[in-house]
Amino acid sequence: MVSDGTPVEIDQVRLAALIRDIPDHPEPGIVYKDITPLLLDPAAFRMMVDGLVAQVDGAAIDKVVGIEARGFILAAPLADRLGAGFVPARKAGKLPGESRGIDYELEYGAETLEIHDGAIAPGDRVWIVDDVLATGGTAAATAALIEGFGGQVAGLGFLLELGFLHGASKLTAYRYATLLTA
Ligand code: AMP
Repeated sequence: MVSDGTPVEIDQVRLAALIRDIPDHPEPGIVYKDITPLLLDPAAFRMMVDGLVAQVDGAAIDKVVGIEARGFILAAPLADRLGAGFVPARKAGKLPGESRGIDYELEYGAETLEIHDGAIAPGDRVWIVDDVLATGGTAAATAALIEGFGGQVAGLGFLLELGFLHGASKLTAYRYATLLTA
């Protein structure tokens, strides 16, 4: 159900069929989940955004944080639908203004995400969005960064969870939702 009580019909089979597996990208052994076919299909894109809105389930949200890069594509229309601000969480050195970052470990190597100073105010209710929940390290680090600004993480929403990587185990402190599971 969306926040106004309208039932949302999410055709999971249709959405899943529009996510393409690219073996061995960006490195051998990784099966990359390519969402660009879904983005090409206007009805499927709308259905996905309807589903992302339904995940929030009427919670009051001040800011939607999208994780670079594909999280931006989902988070921006969600923020618009919710009447919330959109905040990009970007890789190190990309944001033009003063920002604060968090370092975290990935399956292979380390990464840093940054958010502009002032983008999250203390007490802001924040919803985090990304396309794929894999090991959960990126999402958990983003949540910690938001809490460092004094924001309250109201929850996290994903298009697709890779269940075999058990990313949800890093998000036990939070509410989270996924439209699809692989
Ligand atoms: P995680 O392992 O959950 O920290 O994922 C790291 C980032 O890479 C997240 O932004 C995911 O959306 C993305 N990601 C991880 N694995 C995949 C995959 N197999 N296909 C597409 N994106 C992925």
